[in-house]
Amino acid sequence: MRLRSRRRGSSLPDDCLFCRLYKEGDHVREGDGFVAIKDINPRADVHLLVIPERHAPSFREVGEFEPDEAKRMLEFVADTAREAGLEDYRVVVNVGEGAGQTIFHLHWHILGGHTAGLP
Ligand code: AMP
Ligand code: ZN
Repeated sequence: MRLRSRRRGSSLPDDCLFCRLYKEGDHVREGDGFVAIKDINPRADVHLLVIPERHAPSFREVGEFEPDEAKRMLEFVADTAREAGLEDYRVVVNVGEGAGQTIFHLHWHILGGHTAGLP
């Protein structure tokens, strides 16, 4: 494992679904430390998830990313949407159970086309 991907924080990535999908999921796009997958339960014509290799439990812990890594993560989200053919789209991050977060590994929803409610 590359040094910069060493995990920090108090969570338990060993049994984290998105840590597993980062390593062995069906990726529609791969970058340096980031992947995109199709959401298994799409709420829009195009519904992708961007998953960073680094396990941060939620957006609250975004400070655990290096500045350059955080910038590259945002660019990966934008580039993934563009490569999916989207010009107009929504980017959603659910933060905490009360806001609908169900997987506690930071991820970004990209929703394009007709959207049936928020994920
Ligand atoms: P959130 O509710 O914001 O934590 O988003 C988690 C998302 O992960 C939901 O939209 C789920 O449909 C999606 N999801 C759960 N399991 C899988 C899976 N195995 N592959 C792809 N997407 C998944
Ligand atoms: Zn994880």
